[in-house]
Amino acid sequence: MILVVGGAGYIGSHLVKELVEKEDVVVLDNLSTGHREAVDKRAIFVKGDLGNEDDLQMVFRSYPIKAVMHFAAYSLVGESVIDPLKYYENNVASTLTLLKVMIKFKVKNFIFSSTAATYGIPDVELIDEESKTAPINPYGHSKLMVEQMLADFSKSYGLNYVVLRYFNAAGAHQSAAIGESHDPETHLIPIILQQLLGTREKISVFGSDYDTADGTCIRDYIHVTDLAQAHILALEALLSGEKSTETYNLGNGLGYSVKEVIETCERVTGIKANVEMAERRAGDPARLVASSQKIYTELGWKAERSLEKIIADAWNWHQNQLY
Ligand code: UDP
Repeated sequence: MILVVGGAGYIGSHLVKELVEKEDVVVLDNLSTGHREAVDKRAIFVKGDLGNEDDLQMVFRSYPIKAVMHFAAYSLVGESVIDPLKYYENNVASTLTLLKVMIKFKVKNFIFSSTAATYGIPDVELIDEESKTAPINPYGHSKLMVEQMLADFSKSYGLNYVVLRYFNAAGAHQSAAIGESHDPETHLIPIILQQLLGTREKISVFGSDYDTADGTCIRDYIHVTDLAQAHILALEALLSGEKSTETYNLGNGLGYSVKEVIETCERVTGIKANVEMAERRAGDPARLVASSQKIYTELGWKAERSLEKIIADAWNWHQNQLY
């Protein structure tokens, strides 16, 4: 059985939907930002807190867990600057509690959701796993600290792990049964689609004087189902013993500017957006684009879904958003 912590959240719920096809799954989530309705009915759901040792012990005592996948983190850069305590408490201290209980119950396999924010402001066009890690905000620091703990725990306690550094997760499940739903929403694609649906007055482009071709920030958007599939491959590699301590970037190697994303949304939906240019947002690097060559070479994974597909699936979801 696989324990998915944070399985009611955006990325976790998409992973669970794929994983239940192959494994028995138990989801632990405190529903602070996740949605109970997002959890596939084939998974067992336990409402509980990552930082609560009693909740964790109950799960590990009740189910024969062979691996843990950890999605239960706060992930907003801006919020992490305003309230770093929240980030260190949940993303670092609570994760430490989870690892402690795993070690106690001799559960040795761990898949960790990390982030492109560990790289800070990169000095290369395509970021690979050898690129320097130098976070520029508490969110990135919190994720890198856990990566460091994993490396040490692996040496001392024989923990096996795969760290997956996500670039910009986006899109929704093809069925439109689950999708992205944050409150407040801060991510670019849902914000654009909400404006096109008329539930938001305008889209603010945060900075148009960056050192990029059109002056707006470039990001590497990756379909959430592609992300989910990478997790399954990473899990299989851990469980088979093929991998024990690896870090992989998950992106598609293609950068799109904020303006290009808006134009693609307009094209896919056939609706014209109401856009204003605004000030830069604190903590935004001009360009973050991944090389995912390593995971392609080692596990045969690559992103299959285009920006158009990401937006089309997200549009289906947002038009009939269930939660
Ligand atoms: N962005 C924007 N307007 C918005 C939201 C985001 O211009 O209302 C920009 C943001 O500055 C960044 C890109 O869109 O360059 C992606 O931001 P998002 O918050 O979706 O993801 P992040 O890169 O912060 O993880």
